[in-house]
Amino acid sequence: MKRILVTGGAGFLGSHLCERLVASGSDVLCVDNFFTGNKENIKHLLGHPHFELMRHDVTFPLYVEVDEIYNLACPASPVHYQFDPVQTTKTSVHGAINMLGLAKRVKAKILQASTSEVYGDPEVQPQSEAYWGRVNPIGIRSCYDEGKRCAETLFFDYWRQHHLRIKVARIFNTYGEDAAR
Ligand code: UDP
Repeated sequence: MKRILVTGGAGFLGSHLCERLVASGSDVLCVDNFFTGNKENIKHLLGHPHFELMRHDVTFPLYVEVDEIYNLACPASPVHYQFDPVQTTKTSVHGAINMLGLAKRVKAKILQASTSEVYGDPEVQPQSEAYWGRVNPIGIRSCYDEGKRCAETLFFDYWRQHHLRIKVARIFNTYGEDAAR
């Protein structure tokens, strides 16, 4: 049975992912600090023999044994990520370093939930993955945009330097059922 870590697992996307992974027969460890994640989102999974919940902040190291990691932890809406911008950057950057360090130690596959915000205020529509973006490094959105860009940099350097099996998904605006709202 695959052991899968989902950081930000009590968030909107993370909770749907946990549900899908449990349903497909994996053993899921959901990690969340509940800053924007909500227990409401995963309450139907609590008590399931293959679902485990841990309150933890990814800016701190995490020592667990898993086969795959989905790194989704980061507040994603402007009102939340601008509440404590320094913490937002730390969540993306220190969070990526810790989860990549974990992936390296246990030789796990790792996916980063990136964002269309890495394109910033783009000059081209639609954006292709080859487009490098147009991002303000010093504005009030920069903690999120540049944090996510730096996380992508770390993922690709861990791939080049340490041969980690990485995936980076640039997620655009997403809608769907949100149990917590
Ligand atoms: N780390 C972690 N869990 C692990 C292994 C590492 O949280 O199971 C963290 C650790 O705090 C470290 C970071 O990941 O600072 C990066 O680890 P790596 O081995 O890549 O770098 P180093 O420890 O050599 O700085």
